[in-house]
Amino acid sequence: MNAEIIAVGSELLTPHRQDTNSLYLTEKLNDLGVEVRFKCIVGDDLEGLTAAAKLAMRRSDIIIFSGGLGPTEDDLTREAVAEALGLKLQRETQLLAKLEERFAKRGMKMSANNAKQADILTSAAMLPNSLGTAPGQWIAGKYDGQERLLMLLPGPPYELKALFENECIPRLRARIPAQYIATRTLKMAMMPESQVDARVAPIYKTYTDVETTILAGAGEIQLHLRCRKDSQTDAEARVEELAGKIEDEMGDAIFSRKGETIEQIVSYLLQMRGMTLATAESCTGGLLAERITSLSGSSRYFLGGAVVYSNELKTQFANVPKALINQHGAVSREVAASMAEGIRKRCLSSYGVGITGVAGPTGGTEQKPVGLVYIALAGEEGTQVVERNFPGDRKRIRQFATQQALEMIRRALL
Ligand code: ATP
Ligand code: MG
Repeated sequence: MNAEIIAVGSELLTPHRQDTNSLYLTEKLNDLGVEVRFKCIVGDDLEGLTAAAKLAMRRSDIIIFSGGLGPTEDDLTREAVAEALGLKLQRETQLLAKLEERFAKRGMKMSANNAKQADILTSAAMLPNSLGTAPGQWIAGKYDGQERLLMLLPGPPYELKALFENECIPRLRARIPAQYIATRTLKMAMMPESQVDARVAPIYKTYTDVETTILAGAGEIQLHLRCRKDSQTDAEARVEELAGKIEDEMGDAIFSRKGETIEQIVSYLLQMRGMTLATAESCTGGLLAERITSLSGSSRYFLGGAVVYSNELKTQFANVPKALINQHGAVSREVAASMAEGIRKRCLSSYGVGITGVAGPTGGTEQKPVGLVYIALAGEEGTQVVERNFPGDRKRIRQFATQQALEMIRRALL
């Protein structure tokens, strides 16, 4: 079965509000084994809504409307669905009484427009809404010979979630054959997407029953595997088999198999080896320390560090010789190494990291362009420095640089 979600509301067509209801609904539908094939956002206008409803009736088994069930003139979902399906709206007297009672309880008189929230489509089942005034509606029927399931849900996210959870999911479960989904997320750091895809595509392409998606962020590639079967065991077996083959190909380039972040993996490895870390950051301004300390318990392995932006502070806090900076410049292989070694010595840590570079957008030169970053890792076994030319804006370059540092720490600990 496939589904279509129609998010209703003119505010969702502005830059100020996002349709998040469909993300929630998609997750829940996927859990039921239902694929979302179309999403549509329509403003509060009857003609547009009716057209969207008609189109959805032609192409989708399950159609879910979110929003437009309120009392105001621009809440038109009921009217549009009635028009599209050729149904009538009936005012439910019992529901009307309940609405009036609700207002009376708060010492208010119900205004006339609120009454339309008691309008129910003929053949619809009412879905009680304990958190708001407008009930949801559920319609199951044949249209042009096709079985269709329609749900009208209120727009406020907490109301929609409660209604979908309590009223729609049990109804859907009763109609949809049970399906089981298994997923795996494999993560890699500092590898180009094209290179990863060239190596893994020949493998995952042979698993046509496993959906494979590649997501790329600054310095991170994620492979999402997803398989749906009649039994959990079958689904797990398929994703496990594919994940295993991809791991054989990519080896220890894969840092995470269960969705852990690289910070978590570095944390785990440092604790396992009983080692500690200190950082000296220039162009990343403490971002590496921020990422490391975003994990609770990081005090067990992260001693601290310094943001050494000026040349003076590189010397003062990270023991970088003044002459070294004069000779090679603050953005250099030598200074990065010296920062890592200096902070390691000053903090008495197992590892020291030094990062120096040009994050831009200003400050680049022909010899040292924007994006040039040196990342150094000093340890007992010596110091390694990586020179990279990162693409993108300031934010991306800084993210890349910290990702590179975390990957170097991870590799050193393997
Ligand atoms: P009511 O008018 O009774 O509150 P409604 O069903 O008419 O209910 P809307 O008026 O469309 O709902 O939306 C109410 C609130 O919910 C608004 O703040 C709106 O921004 C938010 N909302 C509506 N649709 C969505 C959506 N798809 N994703 C996230 N928020 C939404
Ligand atoms: Mg509205």
